[in-house]
Amino acid sequence: MAKRVQSPSSINTYRQCPRKYFYQYILRLPTGENIHLVKGKIVHSVLEKFFDIDIKHFKEENYKKELSYYMKNLFNAFWLKSLEKFEDLRATEKEIIGAKQEIAEMLANWLQYFFDRIDSTGLSFNEAFKKFRPVEIEAEYESKKHMVKGFIDVVEHVDGEIKVLDYKTSGSFEISDNYELQLAIYALLYSEKHGKMPNKLSIWFLKDKEQIIEMDEKLIENAIKEIEGIHQKTESNAIDDYPKQESGLCKWRTGKCDFYDECFRGSARFK
Ligand code: SF4
Repeated sequence: MAKRVQSPSSINTYRQCPRKYFYQYILRLPTGENIHLVKGKIVHSVLEKFFDIDIKHFKEENYKKELSYYMKNLFNAFWLKSLEKFEDLRATEKEIIGAKQEIAEMLANWLQYFFDRIDSTGLSFNEAFKKFRPVEIEAEYESKKHMVKGFIDVVEHVDGEIKVLDYKTSGSFEISDNYELQLAIYALLYSEKHGKMPNKLSIWFLKDKEQIIEMDEKLIENAIKEIEGIHQKTESNAIDDYPKQESGLCKWRTGKCDFYDECFRGSARFK
């Protein structure tokens, strides 16, 4: 059977629960939205559009004000577009106000970091903005050789170094094994397309700060092993080859896995 194209998400889903992988990537059952996903999409959209701004007419002494105003407008535009989704999710007023506040804080955190970064260069605003403008944003990469693909949030070339970066809106600020694997897959994809490895890999925890890891060949070797392992484990189309991995991620106080009813309909477990 032909290999399926994998992604960091599909691989992490398999690692979390093979049965979940089966429902999501083989049967392709729909997955639901939730407030966290909607918040994440708004933040990603604002940061994706941020560097589209034309800074030609910015005055050096006003650039922080101008960029803050521009980001606020972007946020408002994406927020208004997403209001319907909060309504579809039957979010309460308190949840909606909380979500807006949370997004505003993440964007303000990122913007302050960007200002600090510009100020630290000693360059004019114009020069520093160009220096830090990513060379790619939300770029789709695919490897036919390894049958894996992914969207890289940001690729930067700064001072002769290449960095690939992923934004996270989660509340935990550790580069977990899953995040490390995701970054290693991005590095593999980048190197296959451009013929050279990135120097740095980064997760930008938007509620905290950016965390950078240096490129290491071992990360790539592990990523290739992991991808090959998933290809082997997902050759079958039979549900029995994808065992349930029951955990606290099946059902928790405020929600449940998208496939909980498929797994436990009629069962007393986790009720
Ligand atoms: S409910 Fe639990 S066992 Fe079933 S697919 Fe989801 S995570 Fe896996």
